[in-house]
Amino acid sequence: MKINYYNFKNNFEKSLIILNKLVNLLIFINQILKNMQFENNLDYASKLDKIDPVRNFRDQFYIPKDSNGNELIYLCGNSLGLQPKSTRAKVEQELLDWENLGVEAHFLGKNPWKDYHEFVTDSLAKIVGAKPKEVVAMGSLTANLNSLLISFYKQNLERHKIVIEATAFPSDIYSVFSQIKLNGFNVDDSLIKLEAKANETYINTEDILSLIENEGDSIATILLGGVNYYTGQAFDMEAITKAGHKKGIIVGFDLAHAIGNLKLELNKWDVDFAVWCSYKYLNSGPGGIAGIFVNERFAKRFDIDRLSGWWGHDKTSRFKMDSQFVPMEGAEGWQNSNPAILPLACLRASLDLFDEAGMDKLKEKSIKLTGYLEFLLDLVDTDRIEIITPRDINQRGCQISLRVKNANKELFDQITRNGVIADWREPDVIRIAPVPLYNSFKDVYRFVEILKSCL
Ligand SMILES: *Cc1c(COP(=O)(O)O)cnc(C)c1O
Repeated sequence: MKINYYNFKNNFEKSLIILNKLVNLLIFINQILKNMQFENNLDYASKLDKIDPVRNFRDQFYIPKDSNGNELIYLCGNSLGLQPKSTRAKVEQELLDWENLGVEAHFLGKNPWKDYHEFVTDSLAKIVGAKPKEVVAMGSLTANLNSLLISFYKQNLERHKIVIEATAFPSDIYSVFSQIKLNGFNVDDSLIKLEAKANETYINTEDILSLIENEGDSIATILLGGVNYYTGQAFDMEAITKAGHKKGIIVGFDLAHAIGNLKLELNKWDVDFAVWCSYKYLNSGPGGIAGIFVNERFAKRFDIDRLSGWWGHDKTSRFKMDSQFVPMEGAEGWQNSNPAILPLACLRASLDLFDEAGMDKLKEKSIKLTGYLEFLLDLVDTDRIEIITPRDINQRGCQISLRVKNANKELFDQITRNGVIADWREPDVIRIAPVPLYNSFKDVYRFVEILKSCL
């Protein structure tokens, strides 16, 4: 028999996919077995807290309190992460250098401002699974997204579509709208919105892959949230990137809800570009400083169109103030302005904690903590709420989204009055995000008790 190499390769790839599915199934079964060992009582929740290897990090954060001084149950780290106690000192150091040195602190400060963004590069690279030259802290999320789409949404008459989730965060939708228009196309022809099937609550990965397979030749760029902000669905970034690349598509992710939440491997997955904000799971404070990832394949692609600014100029000659733009290699070549130092100082404080804890340990706790939340919610005897987040731990981060029957916001207001900080997303969803860095199993237990009493 003649061995056909292509058949062999195809079969081999298929076997790999089946093997991968089997492994995922085993992980899933293992999780179900683990969940079966959970118990529905406060002592048990306290016991889980006592054996939690990262329990001490909670003490390093300020937990908001009610007017009587009792700690609130804060489950909103997906919207605004809490303040590390070390943040103030990090900011004060820079205020002090400003006070004593003025402009000279750019060069003579304890942490020279001209290099300040570089102090967070290694930690960011670790958190997103990238090489240091692939990431930089800069600007703000939506502006960075617009900027990177200028570089990575390259279209022509045959290939001009962008793929996005129908329930993407509105800012991302507005951004791709503007990009399509800027390029002389129109949204009706050029935007593909991914939707869940009629009676499903999140998007099926197979549907995404078959869309890419069938319509890939007309798609220029795929832009998905690493984790969808609304449903909490985590996308299979590796599979989507691979399928996209096979069709010549540029694949990027908005990691606003994924960074500091999922274990990311952007370099290994060969993602083209990514953007994020840092005030959610990265706890950098309101409006914090955002960041970008640009795959090392583009590090020296100075031919790629980009929105340029002096901070993206070769740093060895930046202060010569020459009018000829010479971009830096790697992600730093996409910088525009000199970065805001005080927000960077806040970010540093939090990244130190991530470095200390490590994403592996945080993710391990996160799976258990959210698993416990799911276990308790499943025991609540009601048809007024429904979990719309995937049950598969590989398809979610820490967040669970609850759809409330008849869009009854009163339920949300009631849990708020009872000391829970969560959030309500129109039209009918309560998002609950137990964050492994500072939330406890007791938080989760108490939340579900309050929810039950409100139902
Ligand atoms: C939070 C969030 C934003 C917010 O954008 P900013 O530019 O930081 O105001 C945008 N997109 C997604 C997906 C988000 O989750």
